[in-house]
Amino acid sequence: MKFDDGQPINLEQMLLAKEKRVENQLIAITRYHYPVISLSLVIPGAIKNSSGSLFLFKEAITALHNCFIANAIALIDEQHYHYVTGSEAIISVPCSIDKLKQLCIDIEDNHPLGRLWDIDVIDPLSQRSVSRSKFNHRSRQCLVCQEAAKICSRAKKHSLEEIFLAIERRIKDYLDSSSLNASRKQVK
Ligand SMILES: [Zn+2]
Repeated sequence: MKFDDGQPINLEQMLLAKEKRVENQLIAITRYHYPVISLSLVIPGAIKNSSGSLFLFKEAITALHNCFIANAIALIDEQHYHYVTGSEAIISVPCSIDKLKQLCIDIEDNHPLGRLWDIDVIDPLSQRSVSRSKFNHRSRQCLVCQEAAKICSRAKKHSLEEIFLAIERRIKDYLDSSSLNASRKQVK
């Protein structure tokens, strides 16, 4: 699993991807009239479609599915998009906006890989993303240090190498702990 085995993209492609994401959200809202989960990945640098990011995407989808099952939320529609600008998903679910946002914040904050996911919730009425601050949640922490992510990225406090080392460490810890859990289960 690597983060440099994809194609680099430029700023224009990144902006177009954002427009396309909003378009895909609106298509889902128009079609189903349900709240929409818009999943994208937090990958620094110019390469967004690596084997590492595909791994993170699949793990995010699994975490979302587990959350739907645990909370008896039906899955109305789920679309995956694998762009050069990164993998994304648009998921329509019949759930109240507030509950859904809270569940998605919980995944982002508590799953070992959650910091590498952006799980937005789009209100079908306003057609806008529900803000994290409405739920009195702290803004997201930097991948490398204890500071708020916004502050470090604005100040360019960490090098790309430093950030990817932090990401790879997180993934390694996650894989180690899940294989440990799997072997524990086998013992039972
Ligand atoms: Zn930092």
